[in-house]
Amino acid sequence: IKTILLNNRPEGKPTVSNFEFVTKDTTLTISEGEILLEAVYVSVDPYLRGRMSDAKSYVPPFELNQPVQSGVIAKVIASKNSKFTEGDFVSGLLAWQTQQVSNGEGLLKVDGSKAPLSTYLGVLGMTGLTAYLGLNEIGKPKAGETIVVSGAAGAVGSVVGQIAKILGLHVIGIAGTDEKIELLKTKFGFDAGINYNTCTDINAAIKKAAPNGVDIYFDNVGGPISDAVLFNINRFARIIICGAISVYNKTETPKSISVQPFLVKNSALMQGFIVSNYAEKFQEAMQQLATWLGEEKLKYTETVVEGFDNIPNAFIDLFEGKNKGKMIVKI
Ligand code: NDP
Repeated sequence: IKTILLNNRPEGKPTVSNFEFVTKDTTLTISEGEILLEAVYVSVDPYLRGRMSDAKSYVPPFELNQPVQSGVIAKVIASKNSKFTEGDFVSGLLAWQTQQVSNGEGLLKVDGSKAPLSTYLGVLGMTGLTAYLGLNEIGKPKAGETIVVSGAAGAVGSVVGQIAKILGLHVIGIAGTDEKIELLKTKFGFDAGINYNTCTDINAAIKKAAPNGVDIYFDNVGGPISDAVLFNINRFARIIICGAISVYNKTETPKSISVQPFLVKNSALMQGFIVSNYAEKFQEAMQQLATWLGEEKLKYTETVVEGFDNIPNAFIDLFEGKNKGKMIVKI
């Protein structure tokens, strides 16, 4: 049985040396009420970076020398719990471990015949819910409005843009390569895309792509990209602060422009979003996402890395933009 522990807390960008690989030659046994799980797909997510440092946040930090945890799809390989049968697949927050014992609490059964199992980590999982609920609950989108999405070719961003298109908005995505911009426009139906790595003036590029100004900004990245969007917001704009990946690895407090004048001048709303605050809406959101997926109104892309040992590398690669859509490790 292989496990990946957090060996030390990353300073700046995470490296493989922050993790320790442990292999134990044992057989796990289960007691009454427990199930034995075998990991099938492991999700790697930018938010895990926050849990690897010991700063106060909305979830407690990972403990040193303990297994890292993330969203995992696992197969039930033995069960002494009446709610689960051998052969079931479950989704839940589990350890980076090839096999593990669980009492079943917090695990959700997933059906691989309805949608590919990996989608329960992406478009039908936490990132899909984040896109749907962040956009609807804070963004309050209306047909005809203009939205800008940063981190647009990633797991959350690609779903946000597509939902906005379904709802009749003009959609502009910001991402880091020409290939991603092409993907946004061809596969995901975005109206325009901006490559922030090659664009010399993002503010001007947004102005051009959004001639009527920006009503909603779905922010996944923070930093200078988000500053540029602020120059283009309309009156009563809504800004969803979903993430700030461009600053997660900064060791010094980043310098940013002052947002207040932009918000005051435009009577705009800026609100932080955490998906777990909206648990009572998960069911409804999941149903809508699954319906759109079934109707092929919603498409998805995954970057699948193979092999348990590559989990840390796949995680680190998120900060290099190596993924298109959801980054997933197949065990
Ligand atoms: P993604 O699939 O979007 O992967 C991360 C992407 O971020 C990369 O592919 C890369 O794309 C981009 N990126 C990396 N570094 C930078 C940088 N310095 N500047 C700009 N872009 C960068 O991840 P997710 O969809 O899972 O997450 C997106 C965001 O949403 C994250 O900030 C995450 O923390 C947040 N999140 C928040 C949740 C909540 O409840 N608040 C829940 C889930 C996610 P590129 O090539 O375009 O640079």
